[in-house]
Amino acid sequence: MLSVEEARRIILEHIEVLGLEKVSLLCALGRVLGEEVISGLDIPPWDNSAMDGYAVQASEVKGACPDHPVLLRVIEDLPAGRVSARSLKAGEAIRIMTGAPIPAGAEVVVMVEDTERDGEAVRIFREIKSGANIRHRGEDLKAGVKVFSPGTALGPAEIGVLASLNRGTVFVYRRPRVAVLATGDELVEVGEPIRPGQIISSNTYTLTSQVRQCGAIPIDLGIGRDDLGMLRQKLEEGCSADLLITSGGVSMGDYDLVKGALKEMEGEVKFWRVAIRPGMPTAFGIVLGKPFFGLPGNPVSSMVCFELFARPALLKMGGHSHLFRPSIQAILDQDVVKKPGRTHFVRVILERKEGEVYARLTGDQGSGILTSVSSAHGLAVVPEEVSLLKAGQKVKVLLLDRGWEALAEEDLKPETGDSPRSNEAQ
Ligand code: AMP
Ligand code: MG
Repeated sequence: MLSVEEARRIILEHIEVLGLEKVSLLCALGRVLGEEVISGLDIPPWDNSAMDGYAVQASEVKGACPDHPVLLRVIEDLPAGRVSARSLKAGEAIRIMTGAPIPAGAEVVVMVEDTERDGEAVRIFREIKSGANIRHRGEDLKAGVKVFSPGTALGPAEIGVLASLNRGTVFVYRRPRVAVLATGDELVEVGEPIRPGQIISSNTYTLTSQVRQCGAIPIDLGIGRDDLGMLRQKLEEGCSADLLITSGGVSMGDYDLVKGALKEMEGEVKFWRVAIRPGMPTAFGIVLGKPFFGLPGNPVSSMVCFELFARPALLKMGGHSHLFRPSIQAILDQDVVKKPGRTHFVRVILERKEGEVYARLTGDQGSGILTSVSSAHGLAVVPEEVSLLKAGQKVKVLLLDRGWEALAEEDLKPETGDSPRSNEAQ
């Protein structure tokens, strides 16, 4: 049977990056940059003051100290947004605010805390070296330098940088449109009455949500009945999207008809099974020219297989340069026993204790126990060949979104004693 790595390699080989579209910068949060951005400007565009204070010539304040202040004549008030027409001379100072362009002739800004105003004059109590408290032209970005590469995920900071480069629009990768089809005669939609033997199609909700979290656009095709003709018709409908995901109907049951429907359609299924638990019956292929994932029906299997296989595929399609979850090494809190032959992805809760991260199982790992995913910080990876991991051994844990909560908790506790961190915030 295929390993997770082999399955992923096959999938990513068959996934192509989508094209670009132009969006307003205001709508670019969470999108993926599709162009190389070169700075057209120096940022900041001119030398400017880093402080509220007084712009002076460096030689004027030489030797200034509280006992021997230097007295200078204040010739102008310069707020941010205005350029001085004056040129500073010996014996003069210009009152200057943070962000205002440095006037001609000035070499330093003395911060207001080191001065005392006296009518038309100011006393300076401190000598400072030339260039102090000045933000220099181009110190953040110089015109002509490369700022961002394609594949950069646009967060608030990147959007701020693009705004300061005067970019009102930006090219981003198109968001993948993903058709999601739940299959099974036992399924009903949320809000419908549930008759004996029926269950709600929770996969429709987990999968469309997972699709959204990848930055893609879900198209809910509803529930496909266990009927070859209907499934084929729904699958064909789904092929108008960029990628198609089904849940259920791909294992060995008498009513697992997704397999049969696909066989009748033009395309090629690359694999039907992967050596993992949960989620061994997982299919991937191309149908009517579009990538197709046949995820298992069990709610946990469907989520985990999306996570392992569909998520990297959607991120690649959407132009992302980072396709996989970050992982950490955690210490197991308990023994984990399994049969060799499949890689297990065990839902775990992480906890920091005395500088180490510990992992404990969320509880019952059955593939129908969806709450085992909702309470999980991560997926512990128990390798294919392993049959026992003992408490105290290290295990690799893929961090799910909630993983950061577990790792961040310690930082929220009040700090005790001297910590280097107390000096950090500025
Ligand atoms: P299947 O792979 O179709 O045999 O389904 C395996 C199990 O997952 C069965 O117990 C189904 O009832 C359940 N299942 C299938 N599809 C869904 C769904 N959309 N939502 C919740 N459970 C499902
Ligand atoms: Mg079924």
